[in-house]
Amino acid sequence: MNLSHRITHLTGGGSDGWDVFYKARRMISEGVAVTELTIGEHDIRTDPRILAAMDASARGGHTGYAMVPGVGALRDAVARRITERTGVPTSRENVLITPGGQSALFAAHAAACDAGDTALYLDPYYATYPGTIRGVGAIAKPVRTRAEDAFQPRKEDLAAAAPGAKSLLINTPNNPTGTVYSRQTLEGIAEVCTENDLWLISDEVYDSQVWDGAHLSPRALPAMAERTMVVGSMSKSHAMTGSRCGWIVASEEVVAHLINLATHTTYGVPGFIQDAALWALDAGETLEAEIAAPFRRRRELAMHILSGQQTVTAVPAQGAMYLMLDTRATGLTGEEFANALLDRHHIAVMPGESFGQAAAGHVRVAMTIEDAAFGEALRTLCGFAAELAGQPIIA
Ligand code: PMP
Repeated sequence: MNLSHRITHLTGGGSDGWDVFYKARRMISEGVAVTELTIGEHDIRTDPRILAAMDASARGGHTGYAMVPGVGALRDAVARRITERTGVPTSRENVLITPGGQSALFAAHAAACDAGDTALYLDPYYATYPGTIRGVGAIAKPVRTRAEDAFQPRKEDLAAAAPGAKSLLINTPNNPTGTVYSRQTLEGIAEVCTENDLWLISDEVYDSQVWDGAHLSPRALPAMAERTMVVGSMSKSHAMTGSRCGWIVASEEVVAHLINLATHTTYGVPGFIQDAALWALDAGETLEAEIAAPFRRRRELAMHILSGQQTVTAVPAQGAMYLMLDTRATGLTGEEFANALLDRHHIAVMPGESFGQAAAGHVRVAMTIEDAAFGEALRTLCGFAAELAGQPIIA
């Protein structure tokens, strides 16, 4: 018996650039004190008030099958959040509640692509993107963005890749680069999608983490509401990564089909999780700002530290909980630098190469540990880079 090509070829095989991450985990299990700046997980836990809402809901009996499209009040709350923040009239019929943003990404691609279709995504990319696309039987085709453009995609690069493709997946604010797409970038994306009749899958799970400028949803651009599927999540905005609650916002027709898919795949999201998410969304933007505040603070701290040295340059950190640092002055690849930093200083960061070829020679630093330790780790990283580059250490 053979397993399907689809499942056995989901990932590219090999380590996919996660060697440093696994090595750090191994060192920790052997008792080494490693400073981990690898994955996108808050250093705070879910707010106790959200947990209280979850507890009250579960004890109140919301433990049976929930409505597959999502609890009506939560769909309304998501619709309201989207309407308020984007200006696009949105109702519950435009919303499907999903078990996290990841399953929303999968469902959106299943809706857009048939087996054998080509789905575009941008390099550097969030680790699961190509596998998600392959998981629906489509062909994952990367479009390179460039460090010299601060990883804002160029319209001409997209236009060159688009003919014959079915969908384009974008992510702003971006993981791993921290870039927030400008209006001009998004307008270029919208034009390419319209000209080539592409579905646009817009991953906006970091929409509450914008440090510079404003988050713009491409669904709000002229004529884009019909061809855009927005992926959202409670994971990052509300420190609810383990609760697995997200959504897709799309046209009513798309959502009707997605509900059908959900009936045959996830069968919805637990009711008590949805009630907790509803409480959290009803708490409004203040709570989201509170949860984003540590990253905003650490990003300021990082800018200060980086301004005191010349070896490492940051891609403008406009949003999300990461810094993308250009370490090419060391003469090492991102992978070599990350390995050396782990070996010498017990600091674990992700090599840029883990996220595709476009981020080669960079490392991604997650701002997910408390401020003083974060600052110290970043200073050590910069000092080490300067030493490797044979430059004076100023910081
Ligand atoms: N998109 C991006 C860009 C992410 O970084 C993540 C999680 N790290 C997700 C989607 C998925 O998040 P979740 O499934 O927890 O909502």
